[in-house]
Amino acid sequence: MALTVRQRRLPQLHISLDLPSCSFRCPNPPVAATASTSGEFRASDFERLAVLGRGNGGTVYKVAHRRTSAQYALKVLHGGGDPGAAAAEADVLRRAADSPYVVRCHSVFPAASGSGETALLLELVDGGSLDSVRRGVGVSVFFPEAALAEVAAQALAGLAHLHARRVVHRDIKPANLLVSGAGGVKVADFGIAMVLPSRAGGERCAAAYEGTVAYMSPERFDSEGRADADPRGADVWGLGVTVLELLMGRYPLLPAGQKPTWAALMCAICFGELPALPEGAASTELRGFIAACLRKDHTKRASVAELIKHPFVAGRNMAASRLALRRLVAGA
Ligand code: ATP
Ligand code: MG
Repeated sequence: MALTVRQRRLPQLHISLDLPSCSFRCPNPPVAATASTSGEFRASDFERLAVLGRGNGGTVYKVAHRRTSAQYALKVLHGGGDPGAAAAEADVLRRAADSPYVVRCHSVFPAASGSGETALLLELVDGGSLDSVRRGVGVSVFFPEAALAEVAAQALAGLAHLHARRVVHRDIKPANLLVSGAGGVKVADFGIAMVLPSRAGGERCAAAYEGTVAYMSPERFDSEGRADADPRGADVWGLGVTVLELLMGRYPLLPAGQKPTWAALMCAICFGELPALPEGAASTELRGFIAACLRKDHTKRASVAELIKHPFVAGRNMAASRLALRRLVAGA
């Protein structure tokens, strides 16, 4: 299903955006400090080997360092890119560094450095995104529960790490969760992530209307409601949609075949029922986990800390669920 209705670089949908004045990404993006010449790498050090993926923000290449042959992912921002945007994405990634559940950023190459491109040099995650695993080779892959529990556990560990550093991702979806061949899940794509202001109550000003519409939580469609919402709840909602999508093998909040227009998505997300899973399609624990993530009322939605303790995650057989995920990635 082509879910191309997005709101990141808006407004072809002609809706007014009252982005809160405090929805900054980071104050003073450190463009100069991350110039390609300042680190151990320069853009010209790398040879492009293949395209790993394309998104709304950029094209990601598999690249090799010409001297060491070490491989990385290079995310080149569209249209030459905005060095400030790349620096902001890199700054968020730096805050979130040192977690096995978050993709690492090694360097930023600003357009000003001569290549004409703005790019992020990232850790290469060899299994691709959960979206590409789900799509399989020509036929949809349905994630077994054990693999889903592993995805949920590792994504939650990544979100706990981010939220503890006041970083909210705001675009959690299968295409932004990467997986290694060894079965390690990493949160990626911090293009619209933001750092919450540290002053008391600051977290309430950031549930902005940005992200991929299909994965946006109900409160983000409501200009009044989102003013009171903790934006971390949007990451939980995105994870709930992701887990349900991987279980069902398709985007879950619209009937199969329905066109994902903005209006259809908004109605389904804000007012629709969750899809009825047939008897035997999911355990009570998995049903409970999905319901806890997808409560429309953000004040009743589970927090990341609560979900980490949920029986679906905490009660999983760790070795078996990791193996199930590894097998799925190997078969993709
Ligand atoms: P979006 O459409 O969500 O805005 P984007 O343009 O910001 O996307 P990314 O999500 O960062 O781009 O990357 C696009 C795709 O490239 C991912 O879905 C994934 O398939 C691939 N990709 C990105 N980063 C990596 C990485 N570090 N290792 C391997 N593949 C990657
Ligand atoms: Mg992306």
